[in-house]
Amino acid sequence: MSNEFFEQTVINLTRKGAEDRVRLLKNLHKKVLPSQLERIQKNDKSVLKEMFMPKWVSWELLRAWADNFKRPGKGKQCILCDEKKENGIDFNERFICESCFVRLKQLE
Ligand SMILES: [Zn+2]
Repeated sequence: MSNEFFEQTVINLTRKGAEDRVRLLKNLHKKVLPSQLERIQKNDKSVLKEMFMPKWVSWELLRAWADNFKRPGKGKQCILCDEKKENGIDFNERFICESCFVRLKQLE
């Protein structure tokens, strides 16, 4: 599930002026427990019974949000520390973040 679906939903709701809904989507992380987030990511729909989500929040939307949530921030995934970073270098078509690169240079 792509993050675009979630972003697009937020944009559409914003256009419609549905501020309450936009606010809820932007604060989903405050309403969903970490264990529930994990179950959403595993496509375990039984978690819905334990959550107090309005009917308009579809499972598809929750999944898009949850998938995005485990990969927060912009940037590329560093092959060494596995984190997403904005600054770094491309090395043989792989990305190494700035801090890992500095560490590598110190080892040389
Ligand atoms: Zn790194």
